[in-house]
Amino acid sequence: MAAVHAQGAIFLEELGPQPYTFRVAPRPAVFLDRDGTLTEEVGYVNHPRRLRLQPRSASAVRRLNGAGIAVVVVTNQAGIARGYFSEEVLAAVHATLVSQLKDEGAYLDGIYACTHHPTAGEPPYRMVCDCRKPRPGLLLRAAAELGIDLSRSTLVGDRASDLVAGRAAGTRSVLVLTGYGLGEWEYQRDSFPVKPDHVAEDLLDAVEWVLEGRRP
Ligand SMILES: [Mg+2]
Ligand SMILES: [Zn+2]
Repeated sequence: MAAVHAQGAIFLEELGPQPYTFRVAPRPAVFLDRDGTLTEEVGYVNHPRRLRLQPRSASAVRRLNGAGIAVVVVTNQAGIARGYFSEEVLAAVHATLVSQLKDEGAYLDGIYACTHHPTAGEPPYRMVCDCRKPRPGLLLRAAAELGIDLSRSTLVGDRASDLVAGRAAGTRSVLVLTGYGLGEWEYQRDSFPVKPDHVAEDLLDAVEWVLEGRRP
């Protein structure tokens, strides 16, 4: 009977933030596509020097940080499957991304990348995976690991395939007109398998839409 107390108090910090957050307060997230949404669409980013934040991206991430909304990057990086760059280069690019955001007082809660391609390159990267958008695997994994409530979350991306991944994971979706977004929206919208819940000029506009619609 006294066994419950025998080992003394258990402090929350010993459990780490994830079990606590997951059980008690699953929180909403904004999932961000990387290229063309958070950063400039420049083709394959095969060196950290090619990475450029869009002008208002750091403000957008900062707004979400301040609102207690998780910010999670979900990105297809088939350049790895194609042999254009290595996992080490991708890690260096993401370290640069984190550092550029940090310089502006913004942070990410996670970065999830699919490095596969169904037909290009060699195994193990050449595979039909469940994480290459439009499939929802990256979002589902992030939700499980970070304690995210998908039904209160939003995906922001510049391509129709991003919107499909959001829908499949149960989030709302916003199309930004940066990157491929303007062309996709102007010329391809009739064939979008999933219509966006909102169309925004850029990531900051998208984030403002998310924050306006938030219930207290
Ligand atoms: Mg993109
Ligand atoms: Zn994958």
